[in-house]
Amino acid sequence: MEVLHISAECFPVAKVGGLADVVGALPKYQNNLGVSAKVIMPFYLNKFTKNRKFDLLFQGSLALGDKNYTFQILNLKIKLGFPLFLVKIPELLYRENVYGYDDDTERFLAFQIAVLDWVLQNKKKPDLVHFHDHHTGFIPFLMSHAKKYKVLKEIPTVLTIHNAQYQGQFEYDKLHLIPGFDKKHIGLLDWSGQINPLATAIKCAWKITTVSPSYLVELSQHANGLENLLAHEKQKSLGVLNGIDTKVWNPETDNMLKKNYALTNVQSGKKFNKKLLCKQFNLDPEKPLFSFIGRLVYEKGADLFPEAFYKTLLKHDINILVLGSGNLETESQLKTLTTTFSDKYNVYIGYNEELAHQIYAASDFLLMPSRVEPCGLNQMYALRYGTIPIVRSIGGLKDTVIDIDDEGGFGICHDLVSVEDIIYSIGRAVEFYKDQKEFKKVRRNCMKIDHSWDKSAKEYLSLYKSLIN
Ligand code: ADP
Repeated sequence: MEVLHISAECFPVAKVGGLADVVGALPKYQNNLGVSAKVIMPFYLNKFTKNRKFDLLFQGSLALGDKNYTFQILNLKIKLGFPLFLVKIPELLYRENVYGYDDDTERFLAFQIAVLDWVLQNKKKPDLVHFHDHHTGFIPFLMSHAKKYKVLKEIPTVLTIHNAQYQGQFEYDKLHLIPGFDKKHIGLLDWSGQINPLATAIKCAWKITTVSPSYLVELSQHANGLENLLAHEKQKSLGVLNGIDTKVWNPETDNMLKKNYALTNVQSGKKFNKKLLCKQFNLDPEKPLFSFIGRLVYEKGADLFPEAFYKTLLKHDINILVLGSGNLETESQLKTLTTTFSDKYNVYIGYNEELAHQIYAASDFLLMPSRVEPCGLNQMYALRYGTIPIVRSIGGLKDTVIDIDDEGGFGICHDLVSVEDIIYSIGRAVEFYKDQKEFKKVRRNCMKIDHSWDKSAKEYLSLYKSLIN
């Protein structure tokens, strides 16, 4: 069975968040199950692509409205565990960032057209197309209704929603950019008077998955305007919990750590990593270390951090370390806090993969007070590195973290999102940390939890099989 994943991100080539981690890991695990899983993504101008070799597989040209663009399909020479193809469109995709440009609509439309042009001319077609989030949302519509791609309409399509907050909507003045289709299907493009790629994907995909079972349930209440549509398409929707790549995320072999460790030497291993990290950020290795890694946005509850951290640091003798970027006001408030608490708090504004690994290894607790969390991978990385997650029970966090006061518990959970909830949960963690015997036992239990892709890859396989038959 040949499956083509279409995505805007894929680790280690280009990563903004969890989407990259999923698309960079799931195909590997699928290949272990005998699926022939491949990935196609845009060719960006970044550190990874600069230093790599590629084979040219195909050259073509595509029309976007009245503009023409030439494109190439390249094949990455080194092995990632699955074949990786990249779409190079110099004027549109070959840029430093993945998202955030005024012409993102044109960029990702051109990407999708190039992918389908390439699939169309390949003799061997995929048995199934698995596409991810709104950047690839027109794929099933084009395969079924665009005149040019009609021969692809029998190929099953699966949409995975990693985050329904972002939908890629745009106005009808760009309708002419979409390749010719029978206008009686125009309603499939529409949601609330705009063209909405995520809504189109939800309507047209053969099956929909969300990245955790709880997120699927929550989407019928909160989906940034798509609640009714998702409720309507419930019959073809399924929640499949994300896994993690346990080869990339393994404290025993992780070459981004200063000292590797396993279950047998977790205490000394984490202690060593903590000491180095605390030195780097002027923190005290003798005190518990609480960290946050992620986008500093409302969804993650980051706007509450400045007040919550200020009050907590006055009250408790702990360290707090933040790695992330996002909302400029939150960034600035978090930076200001370093002047008040220079020896117990620090922040690194930016994206730093290596530092993220070191923080998972060195921390005692990881904070995730998310308002919305489709799955969340950070808590699973934290567990694997023996770091206790403190989470708001929502979405994937609800599906993966059990409170220490409940049977078999290993995390600290709160139901609501507020400054008080964050402070209260940190207070619970401070108390818990005092009982070092219990703390170390729970830490070891965290490391034993298996969140690898093995199980979920099997779930995807049975979903694919049900469609291919
Ligand atoms: P998101 O909603 O951002 O996709 P996820 O929890 O699904 O959240 O995935 C976040 C991924 O991005 C994790 O691999 C996390 O370690 C990584 N990450 C987030 N922010 C940063 C950062 N500033 N530096 C390094 N890695 C980061």
